[in-house]
Amino acid sequence: MRFVSTRGQAAPATLSEAIAAGLAPDGGLYVPESVPTLAPADFEGKTTLADIAAALLRPFFEGGALAAELDAICAQAFDFPAPMRWLDDGTGLLELFHGPTAAFKDFGARFLAACLSRLRADGDRPLTIIVATSGDTGAAVGGAFHGLAGVRVVILYPDGRVSPRQAHQLGAFGDNVRALRVAGSFDDCQALVKRALNDAALQARVPLSSANSISLGRLLPQMGYYTHAALAHWRETGEVLNFAIPTGNLGNALACILARRIGLPIGEVLLATNANDVLPSFFDGGPYEPRASVATLANAMDVGAPSNFERLRWLVPDDGALREGFRAIAVGDAAIRDTIGEVWTRHGVAVCPHTATAIHALDSLAPDGTWAVVATAHPAKFESIVEPIIGEPVAPPPALAALLARPAHADPMPADYAAFRAQLEAR
Ligand SMILES: *Cc1c(COP(=O)(O)O)cnc(C)c1O
Repeated sequence: MRFVSTRGQAAPATLSEAIAAGLAPDGGLYVPESVPTLAPADFEGKTTLADIAAALLRPFFEGGALAAELDAICAQAFDFPAPMRWLDDGTGLLELFHGPTAAFKDFGARFLAACLSRLRADGDRPLTIIVATSGDTGAAVGGAFHGLAGVRVVILYPDGRVSPRQAHQLGAFGDNVRALRVAGSFDDCQALVKRALNDAALQARVPLSSANSISLGRLLPQMGYYTHAALAHWRETGEVLNFAIPTGNLGNALACILARRIGLPIGEVLLATNANDVLPSFFDGGPYEPRASVATLANAMDVGAPSNFERLRWLVPDDGALREGFRAIAVGDAAIRDTIGEVWTRHGVAVCPHTATAIHALDSLAPDGTWAVVATAHPAKFESIVEPIIGEPVAPPPALAALLARPAHADPMPADYAAFRAQLEAR
């Protein structure tokens, strides 16, 4: 399979090239040249996340340098579970936070690391992975690449806009993982990363790659857990599973939408955003208008220009059809707080602010069918928000507790490109 740019001005690339490059040379995002078709019967006898992901991703890897490694890559990346926790007959939480940094991004980051480490030859110059994060991406990428030879990671995060535990996590890896706390917003961080990735002169001296959600190496594996959950439901009931997804850059939801297009038994896909309502405004019939992000309780979704929207438009080029196909709902901070409290009172379950947006969006529509609300992070990552609402401490899972016990350090940096370039060139 070959991969082309959403902007159509770049030469088709192999999967390895697309994964190594991150962004396509024309500034677009890589997408598969054609979408393969698979049916539940193609997964017969497969039950584990790793096996299902490998069968799903096989067509995308066909003919490429990593094809023979796919089973091993999936075994390495999908080595923690994605269980469904049923709240009632019709609604469950698809818990994607059982990885090393307690957010769903562990799946994509670990898969990308497993791919990139296999693409590097011994004599290659060290590769610098640069990543802008609104909190969780940086930790997942740092965790996935920590200690890998031949790779260093530079994380940029908006100073003061991530939770205290997120900040600690980002600075706690050390070794080949550096954290820069930027005096600016997430969008400023992302702009610095994009500019460096487009700076040919810099890249001649410092080979760079990205690990943001634009990377195919993160997007493709995210289809794995949707497929796993939808197949389990299909096998048990013969019915499709619908998904409500907390959405920021649209990477997680796009993976679900792509899995549905491939032919998996997925029903409706409901997008929930926080007060950054660029997508809900579009789906309500307005123009697509990226704007500056505002800070909310669900900070990993504080995105004013969802980068994967370009891929969604590639998949469904007609805006009318796009609006028919999906619903998107914006959820403000007050509703996030109320929902965290209600879920605790009703079910005795603590949820993170991101997960709360999707629960609230689903409750407000009360649609038919069986729904999986995607639980994107462990509530203990956002203890300063969750604990005062539920009135109880939320214990971090063991992997997160271990990270929090390490010392942490992040260097301050202005939101300025010359300063960033100097950091990258420093050894
Ligand atoms: C990144 C993140 C999201 C948003 O995912 P996108 O792929 O950017 O839409 C939601 N919740 C949490 C906890 C996250 O870390």
